Amino acid sequence: MNVASILKSKGRAVSTVRPNASLLDCTKKLGSKKIGAIVVVGDSGLVTGIISERDIIRAISENGAQALNLMVSEVMTRNVVSCQETSELDELMEMMTKGRFRHLPVLEDDALVGIISIGDVVKYHVAEVEMEVSAMRNYLATG
Ligand code: AMP
Repeated sequence: MNVASILKSKGRAVSTVRPNASLLDCTKKLGSKKIGAIVVVGDSGLVTGIISERDIIRAISENGAQALNLMVSEVMTRNVVSCQETSELDELMEMMTKGRFRHLPVLEDDALVGIISIGDVVKYHVAEVEMEVSAMRNYLATG
């Protein structure tokens, strides 16, 4: 299964935040949307970073409650690893395991077209394995 099929099923909506937004605003967005990470998009419309709950916890542990006044750009990860619609589920698992993160923005020609979380990866991987098991059972039963 590739990213295009996953996006067809889960949709292409991606939450974004500006680099100059405060950490408090970003936290409110994460809370209201019940998500763990937001892609940071600059004025040009290009992805300039990603910020997750881990970054916010780290900022608070280092700066106390004052951290919520920091700008997103001061806390976000700038070197964003992304995938394409043609990327396969196995590749996503490898990227997340190697990079130790749980979110992968999907880019096509630099445009943000979706996001895949580790929850999506697990859900579609389990569905794939179940299909294989069912096909194998049918084969054994009829073979
Ligand atoms: P997460 O596991 O997604 O909550 O993120 C853990 C750490 O990895 C945080 O510092 C994030 O900013 C960073 N991170 C999350 N996703 C990515 C990504 N696709 N590329 C690079 N860093 C990321």
